[in-house]
Amino acid sequence: MTHPDVPLQQLASDNYAGLCPEALAALAQVNHGHEPPYGQDRWTAEACDRFRELFETPCEVFFVFNGTAANSLALASLCQSYHSIVCHRLAHVETDECGAPEFFSHGAKLLLAEGHDGKLDPASVEQLITKRGDIHYPKPKAISLTQSTELGTVYTSAELHAIHQVARRHGLKLHLDGARFANAVAALGLTPRALTVDCGVDVLCFGGAKNGLALGEAVLFFDLAAAEEFAYRCKQAGQLASKMRFLAAQWLGVLKTGAWLRHAAHANHCAAVLEAALRELPEVELMFPRQANAVFVQLPETVIAALHRRGWRFYTFIGVGGARLMCAWDTHEETVHAFVADLKTELRIAQ
Ligand SMILES: *Cc1c(COP(=O)(O)O)cnc(C)c1O
Repeated sequence: MTHPDVPLQQLASDNYAGLCPEALAALAQVNHGHEPPYGQDRWTAEACDRFRELFETPCEVFFVFNGTAANSLALASLCQSYHSIVCHRLAHVETDECGAPEFFSHGAKLLLAEGHDGKLDPASVEQLITKRGDIHYPKPKAISLTQSTELGTVYTSAELHAIHQVARRHGLKLHLDGARFANAVAALGLTPRALTVDCGVDVLCFGGAKNGLALGEAVLFFDLAAAEEFAYRCKQAGQLASKMRFLAAQWLGVLKTGAWLRHAAHANHCAAVLEAALRELPEVELMFPRQANAVFVQLPETVIAALHRRGWRFYTFIGVGGARLMCAWDTHEETVHAFVADLKTELRIAQ
C-alpha cells in the first residue's frame, strides 16, 4: 500500500515516469482496423522515414523492446565471437546488461577503458587496442560509447571526433548507446546527425523508454552493410514485435511533434534547477559536471537513510556510488523543490 506521505514523483530514474501524451495519443491513432504484423505496416514505414529525415541520412531502422536488447544485438552485429569491444569501465553494457552483449555475440569480450566523468579517454582506448596484436587475444573490433553517459555527462562533438579518429586508425566500428541520446542532443544544441553520422557512428541505439515511451528502442544503422540480416537476429532473440505498429507509433508521436527533444530539454532543465539548489548547500558535494538530466551527489549515510524513510527513492550504487538524482520528461519543479526541502531538513538534523 502506498503511504500517503510518499512523494508523487521520484528522482530515482527517468524510467519511473509514464508515457508522454504524444506517445499515448499516437497509440490510439494507430489502433484502427487491421494492419500487417512484424513491421510491415505503414506506421512502421513512416517512423523509419522520420528517423531518416531527422538524421538527414539513409539508415536502416529496427525497433526492439528494450535497451539491453538494442545494445547487445547491435554489438553482436558488429562482431564475431573472437572479437572484442572497447567500452568505458562504467558502461551500461558492462555493468547492467547481465552479460547480454557477450551472450548475443557468442563470446565477444568487453575491454574496459578509463576516462574521467564516465567518458572514454581516447588514449586509454588506443592503449587497449594496441597493447596486443597477437592471435591469443580477442581482436578489437568495436568501440561502444554512451551518450549521455552513465554519470550524466555529455561527450562534445570534438570528443566524439577524437574517439572516431582512434576507431578509424585501427579499423574499428563505433556503437553509441543512446538510452539518453535525446538528453545529449538537447544539452549540446547540435543536430542528431552532427552527433552521430558526422562523428563516424555506425550504429545508434536510440532510447525511447526513458524519454516518454512505454517501451521500444530504435536501432539505427548508419553503416547499412552492418544491418544485413539484423532482422533475423532480432527475431531469434525474441525481439521482433508482432504488433510492431504500437512500438513505431509511439516514436511517430514524439518525432512528428518534436516532443522527443522538448521532453529531454525539460528533464535537463529540471536537473539544472536541482543542481543549482544543491550548490547552495555546503554539505553537499556534486560528484560530476551536471550536463544532462542526472545529478550525482555525495551525502552522509544517515541523511540518505532519512530521505529513504521519507519515501524518496534514488540509487546509490550507480557509477562509483553517491546518490544519483535523475529527472524525467515529466518531472515537476515542485518535486525538485520538495526533495531539496527534505534534504535541507535532514542535513540540519544530522549536524
Ligand atoms: C537504461 C539504460 C539502457 C537500457 O536499459 P534497459 O533496461 O535494457 O532498457 C541502456 N544504456 C543505458 C546507459 C541506460 O541507462
